[in-house]
Amino acid sequence: MKTALTIVSWLLCLLLNPSYGLAGEDGLDASSADYVFRNGKVYTLDEKQPWAESVAVTGNQIAYVGENGGSAKWVGPETKVVDLKGRLLLPGFIDGHNHYVAGAATKRGVNLTGSQNTEEMLQRIRDYVTANPQKGAYMGFNWEFPMFGETGGTRQELDAISRNKPMIFFNEDTHHVWFNTQAMKLAGIGKDTPDPVPGGSYFQRGPDGTPSGIAIEPDAWQHMAIATGLFGGKEMLQDIVDEVLPLMPKLGITAYHDMGIWAPDMPKGYLGFELLLDMEKAGKLPCRVVGNYATRDGKASPDEHIQALKEWNVRYRSDLVQVTGIKVWADGVFLAHTGVQIEPYADQPDTQGESDWTSDVLARWIEAAYSAGFDVNIHTDGDLAARRSLDAVERVAQKLGPSARLTTLHHLPTIHPDDIPRFAALGVGANMTPVWLVDYKGQYGEANRILGKEKVEKEYGLLIPLLEAGVNVTFGSDIPGTDVAEAAPLFQIQAAVTGRVPGSATTAMPPANRLPSLRQMINGYTLAGARQLRMADRIGSIEVGKLADLIVLEKNLFDIPPDEIAATQVLLTMMNGKVRHREAGW
Ligand SMILES: [Zn+2]
Repeated sequence: MKTALTIVSWLLCLLLNPSYGLAGEDGLDASSADYVFRNGKVYTLDEKQPWAESVAVTGNQIAYVGENGGSAKWVGPETKVVDLKGRLLLPGFIDGHNHYVAGAATKRGVNLTGSQNTEEMLQRIRDYVTANPQKGAYMGFNWEFPMFGETGGTRQELDAISRNKPMIFFNEDTHHVWFNTQAMKLAGIGKDTPDPVPGGSYFQRGPDGTPSGIAIEPDAWQHMAIATGLFGGKEMLQDIVDEVLPLMPKLGITAYHDMGIWAPDMPKGYLGFELLLDMEKAGKLPCRVVGNYATRDGKASPDEHIQALKEWNVRYRSDLVQVTGIKVWADGVFLAHTGVQIEPYADQPDTQGESDWTSDVLARWIEAAYSAGFDVNIHTDGDLAARRSLDAVERVAQKLGPSARLTTLHHLPTIHPDDIPRFAALGVGANMTPVWLVDYKGQYGEANRILGKEKVEKEYGLLIPLLEAGVNVTFGSDIPGTDVAEAAPLFQIQAAVTGRVPGSATTAMPPANRLPSLRQMINGYTLAGARQLRMADRIGSIEVGKLADLIVLEKNLFDIPPDEIAATQVLLTMMNGKVRHREAGW
């Protein structure tokens, strides 16, 4: 009788609760979940069961998703039961474009954000130097040209603080560097040093031709940054990684797509992957990383780079880390008139931007990558860069036939509307940085000035048309294009859904019909991100059998005013079945 009852209740369970059956198929033991989350609002991103109350986790896998009642049997003597008290449980956020290792390299030292003038910047630098006398060199970030006023930024201003130790300070988009005399000397730069790219990357100079203190664009400052010892080597990367990666669980990020790990000297990116593997071995890597081999060299043959990528793919492969793609730059940025445009720039009608990465070149690289089994990620800023990339994918598809490989275009501030349906037709993905769709640091206003109002109206920030066309759209904060703290997906989501940078009084917003919904943003930061990483069978939604990457939020984002999203705390972050962050009391 007892057996009969057991069988009946088991059958009932099976009938009433389909996930129980699924759990059985996966062979997970129903009596010994490591964690059971109960009484929550679980937004699963699983179409079959969009909302649930409870989730059980066994090892690193999700074992149960459903109603509270169904999770009781997963609770054993060792099970940790978390009462969510109605809080929102989501899949861990997936950042689809970032440089947590390389990008953060330029966002260290003295933070100059918000300084009103040169004296304020110098005071912050002086304070920092006084507080850190042991350092052999000093760096900082986030100055802006207007802060200098008349002086324009000079070596002598910095020399007055330190004559013997090198100093370099990055501007807010990290394109330019303010340096002192010692930094210049160590790099062997002087009056006779030619400008690397006259008019493109160069030194501002005094009356006698000696560099006066500002280096424009990376070609001019890279060598100096390395010569000062501030850039380079495993130790520096280790410092950054120790500083930056622990932030990720606090922001709710459980996986990210790395778009190039080493900025000034790309092929050395392997050092970064070595560090990530070391961290993983020590149990300290808090997130999954899908990496790229990155190169800007459009004149090179793809073969030697693809060969290097093959080696990285074998060498840097673990539970949490893999290198599966190549990252290339189809152009520069419209803000510097280096984004490649279909029509000339509105404010500089003699230029459309230049790039070595024509459709022919891109097609060669895509074909080489696909043939070797790798995905392709392309930086595309101007509408012509996007069009060339789509042309290239189309050509490769015609030649190779349907491919399992994926090309994703990144940034896409402008897209010609004719090209939108081509993304969907060719299966090309899109990644965007949400704050750049709004007036982040005056960017929306700059777009109007540089690209022209007409083009901005027609082509700028076409996130909604992409989504409506069925394109896989993902999001990422792209440090150093934004600050490390702005990597928070909740900050980015609020910016996108409200049309303004959180905490700012910005009024220039994109039109309301270009603002995405909360659901679309969460999808982009979870399931769509997983598709871009080619991990949608394992992460991105809360389903039985998927890996346990989960976050608990302080407030239900669906119930609060959109301008409270960014300030919502991530209370708990689980990655691969392990709790990586937990607020006190949780
Ligand atoms: Zn990037």
